Amino acid sequence: MNVLITGASRGIGRAMAVAFGRAGHNVFLNFEKDRSAAEAAMAEVWAAGGGAEIFQADVSVREGARKLVEAAARRWGRLDVLVNNAGISRDRTILKMSEEEWRRVIEVNLSGAFWVLQAAAKVMSAQKDGAILNVASILAARGAVGGANYAAAKAGLVALTKSAARELGRFNVRVNAFLPGFHPTDMNQAFTPEHVEKIKGEHSLGRFPDREELGRFIVHLAGLKSVSGQVFAFESRIL
Ligand code: NAP
Repeated sequence: MNVLITGASRGIGRAMAVAFGRAGHNVFLNFEKDRSAAEAAMAEVWAAGGGAEIFQADVSVREGARKLVEAAARRWGRLDVLVNNAGISRDRTILKMSEEEWRRVIEVNLSGAFWVLQAAAKVMSAQKDGAILNVASILAARGAVGGANYAAAKAGLVALTKSAARELGRFNVRVNAFLPGFHPTDMNQAFTPEHVEKIKGEHSLGRFPDREELGRFIVHLAGLKSVSGQVFAFESRIL
């Protein structure tokens, strides 16, 4: 499969890229700012046995998202899988949240995902085949203290997933949402150890999800041909 992953330079996106590489697939890794991290991720995919290329683009810019998808589709002749993973948080309570904190999180996590999905839908509908996985969060359903912007964007992404699945099914394009569970990545680096322990305590298995297993799960989901419009949680927290 030829796979485009947004935000694949670090964290969960990178783990997914390596998992696709390990399964022998080609991965087009997008990043926004951190070129050296993206280059290291590309080398890791190569070492795992996959094809890999990196491409800088800010997914929140519609034209950038379009160029990203076109480059990915050109690179290996078709685009089989899009993983809409790029995301940010700008945590603040509602009473203190700035306009910039609200706007940027919506722009990247929701509008950015839409721009990439829209461009990929054009390619995949013409191919009459494709799989789109939107990386949302359990917080879409639960809400978040200090993360109203993030939870609202992810809830929007789940609604976008279901709408896109309804629209694109007739072109044999499957669209699903994926909730990765909590992972101690750069996104969560400001969390205190007490906060991290509290989150761990919410997990019914008493531990965080394993990132390598997450990679195998996403590769499996991407290969499913008969499932669309669903929300898959890689989680042991109960909603
Ligand atoms: P991370 O370690 O902070 O990595 C974020 C990635 O997104 C980086 O590759 C970054 O690129 C890229 N990115 C950020 N803004 C971008 C933009 N405007 N355009 C293109 N790429 C952009 O985050 P993570 O924890 O792996 O999270 C990945 C996804 O999982 C996100 O959608 C997040 O909301 C979701 N998620 C995470 C958790 C968790 O516990 N970590 C839980 C649930 C859901 P640069 O390296 O260039 O900055």
